[in-house]
Amino acid sequence: MTTTDNAQRSRELDTRARQVLPGGVNSNVRLLGPRVFFDRAQGCRMIDVDGNEYIDYLLGQGPNFLGHAPADILDAVDAACRRGMVYGSQHPLEVEAAELMVQALGWPEQVRFGVSGSEAVQAALRLARAATGRTRFVRFEGHYHGWFDNVLAKVEDGRAVAASEGQVTHFEDFVMLPWNDLAAVEAVLDEDDDIGAVIMEPIMFNSGSIEPRPGFLEGVRAACDARGAMLIFDEVISGFRVARGGAVERYGVVPDLATYGKAMAGGWPVSAVAGPAEIMERFGTGVVNHSGTFNASVMASAATVATLRRLLNDPPYERIRARGQRLMDGLTTLARGNDVDLNVQGVPMAFHAGFGEGPVTDYRSLGRFDTERYNDFTNALVDHGVWVANRGIWYLSAAHEESDIDETLERVEATMKATI
Ligand code: PLP
Repeated sequence: MTTTDNAQRSRELDTRARQVLPGGVNSNVRLLGPRVFFDRAQGCRMIDVDGNEYIDYLLGQGPNFLGHAPADILDAVDAACRRGMVYGSQHPLEVEAAELMVQALGWPEQVRFGVSGSEAVQAALRLARAATGRTRFVRFEGHYHGWFDNVLAKVEDGRAVAASEGQVTHFEDFVMLPWNDLAAVEAVLDEDDDIGAVIMEPIMFNSGSIEPRPGFLEGVRAACDARGAMLIFDEVISGFRVARGGAVERYGVVPDLATYGKAMAGGWPVSAVAGPAEIMERFGTGVVNHSGTFNASVMASAATVATLRRLLNDPPYERIRARGQRLMDGLTTLARGNDVDLNVQGVPMAFHAGFGEGPVTDYRSLGRFDTERYNDFTNALVDHGVWVANRGIWYLSAAHEESDIDETLERVEATMKATI
């Protein structure tokens, strides 16, 4: 029996949800996903309202890096928020969270906390504009920086176009380039002296889990320095996931500013902008506005402190990398054995799978993958108890054990045999 054979309660909830929630969801990203309603989750397993169990590789789109409901994070949040949840004022835990973050990352001097990655990106762009006195920025095809008007875009025929009706595009504010093309970045910085920042995902996790070419990050860093522009790393996915110090640690290139979210607070909604005091102090003097009722709430700060303590005292990185690699290799072997053209590539902590010829090294080539077929495949995986995003990314967590990987591969094999 598959999970869709046993989905009565999920179906009922979906009917109710569609009456009171547009599309039955609260994030448009979920419109395409299977309409399963979850009852609970622990570690790397989730149980839906009909009692079906799934091994989870979506991890809430990344935040559950330590697994679902980690006891140490829950205990810390519970103890802290019994003394009050939101003061709208200062409290010791936010100081500790910032100190640990500075320590864990190794390069910034100050951080400013927010709630979502989208907001953190806006704060970083505003700060870079203020610090450089310039208005425009360079960004890259296939990189996602949140859902706000000035950064949400699709690429059509090499041009950025609105990705939503009702969007005020502001597209004159940025130049969209193919990523990993240093000459293109240098040319734009040479000819446009109003470019205040270059923003990128230092690993293109949102499209293909593609790493920077050797020398690309260093080249962009040098080009920004030579032309007085700031380099912003959007580490909302890579931060605290690929290493404790994120992509900065992995590649040894230090940006002017970086944004963090997802993995930094063990599942709690927390984001941050980080950088040197010289830049960040613009928030401190009040010349650059960054506000937010829920910024550094007691719960958020407690969750951040507990997560960062765990990452500092018991770093899970090598274990997660090894398990991710084992899963990638296992998927590739299964695909070959079953004559399925599944390409598996990227960084083991958040790799990419798609149907088509690989490896893919740039955003445009991802277009050759058969996304409809992959969507059907992920629905079939869900039927067999593997919860995975339909857009190709597989997130690993510290809670995935060797036995979970083995069981996942068995379920994937059953899925392949049932669908080919
Ligand atoms: N930046 C990157 C690289 C992301 O992947 C995301 C979300 O997936 C965001 C920013 C936006 O973060 P949020 O969804 O928390 O607003």
